[in-house]
Amino acid sequence: MIEGKPLTLFNSLTRSAEHFEPVHPGEARVYSCGPTVYNYPHIGNMRAYVFADVLGRALSFKGFRLTHVINITDVGHLTDDADAGEDKLEKAAAAQSQSIWDIAKHYTEAYWADIRALNIRQPAEWSVATDYIEPMLEFAKAIAPEHCYELDSGLYFDVSTVADYGRLARAVTDEGEGRIEEVEGKRHPADFAIWRKTPAGETRQMEWDSPWGRGAPGWHLECSVMSGKLLGFPFDIHTGGIDHREIHHPNEIAQNQAFCHTGSLDEADHSGAKLWMHNNFLVERSGKMSKSSGEFLRLQLLIDKGYHPLAYRMMCLQAHYRSELEFSWDGLGAALTRLKRLVMAAEAARARHAQGGHEPVVEPEGGWNFAWLHDHLGGTLRPLVIRFDDAISDDLNTAVALTVLEDLLSLKKMPSGEVLAAMAAMDAVLGLGLASLTRAELRLRPKDAQVSEAEIDAALVRRKEARAARDFATSDAIRDEMAAKGVDMMDGDPLGWEWRLG
Ligand code: AMP
Ligand code: ZN
Repeated sequence: MIEGKPLTLFNSLTRSAEHFEPVHPGEARVYSCGPTVYNYPHIGNMRAYVFADVLGRALSFKGFRLTHVINITDVGHLTDDADAGEDKLEKAAAAQSQSIWDIAKHYTEAYWADIRALNIRQPAEWSVATDYIEPMLEFAKAIAPEHCYELDSGLYFDVSTVADYGRLARAVTDEGEGRIEEVEGKRHPADFAIWRKTPAGETRQMEWDSPWGRGAPGWHLECSVMSGKLLGFPFDIHTGGIDHREIHHPNEIAQNQAFCHTGSLDEADHSGAKLWMHNNFLVERSGKMSKSSGEFLRLQLLIDKGYHPLAYRMMCLQAHYRSELEFSWDGLGAALTRLKRLVMAAEAARARHAQGGHEPVVEPEGGWNFAWLHDHLGGTLRPLVIRFDDAISDDLNTAVALTVLEDLLSLKKMPSGEVLAAMAAMDAVLGLGLASLTRAELRLRPKDAQVSEAEIDAALVRRKEARAARDFATSDAIRDEMAAKGVDMMDGDPLGWEWRLG
């Protein structure tokens, strides 16, 4: 089988690009830290899942059988990653006078709606933390004698009991990364709770019995347990946003080392996974994206303003996942225009294929992958496929891969079946839905638009008539009237659009 260029991925643990060598031949097992479902995700959060999705799609394209797990955190994540504050879900439930279960259900469904809207493939498993309390207790019991100590507030992990604690964060000292939450009796500032006891006299909505008293698991424990249980240690790749490199993942790694009796992190797989990968942040000009400050950037807000959600996916793909990406409405608009052009070219290729009376292009058994493409495409298209594979294999360089897809769709004289097959395979990695998306579907109406499409169409007809009669005053008046309602009439638009919502 022709595999193309070796897949190279950046390992945050070694801070270097490495060839991907699976633990189990032919397979790829990936765990992604999922959302804490106490609020709607912002589009920055969704960047983490677009990245994990592209990674999974790239692994499939390279011929690996993918098992992807994303977790849903419905308990244990405190308002501060460094072991301080309140449980995010308890707090949200109290503020909204609802049960935690209802809060978790509502925000999980909202998150899944965003997942679907962004064409993110369903993982093999959505693992929900509260379904794994028993295995969490087993895991904690297994590591407690050698690695933990008990305080009034809970069971704590002693980070000095494992080799190379904190290497992932490259924290120089215990004081690094603002991780100090002074809990009386903690042996080291970086020690963290793996089980948090319910304070005497209080009850929590979510609490369970344990050898250390009633309480709830720590957030870090959850991910160690679910990843190990569902994928087996060591598995291939663990992903998350770059903030997780500082506290959450170093703590998961320490627990995994304790559980697996592994030593130095000079061997990356002693950490529980061969590769730790992190996407950089989506930021706003004012700084870090937040759910509380200013306009809360949810995907639904983009949609309400008339931007198709896949324009946001396009925006993510244009940047490298390890670069910071600054959000702007202009940038989103440009991404939408680029997507429109691709969609129009894809529609034209589909139309050409249908007019030629050809059979529809169907996905090969085993999915679209490089080996199939290489074997089935003629000599002219093959170099494009190789360029695409080179880009994706180079630590998921989607920005370059997109330009190759554009080059492909600008070819006019190639057999349409081959062009469509190559397009489908490239889009199987990029996930822009080019096999079926239409120009009409991309044109969303802003929620607050004051004008109906019928009204716009009628205005277009009146304006055309006025222009045909060389009555430019009327024509201009109609244009101004529509502009006042937020509709720009576009004369001679290169994309062939007659109007757009301004
Ligand atoms: P949370 O629900 O807060 O646990 O976050 C879900 C995921 O989003 C995690 O992988 C975070 O690291 C990631 N994340 C949070 N903020 C951003 C951001 N602004 N840009 C990209 N990823 C983010
Ligand atoms: Zn996690």
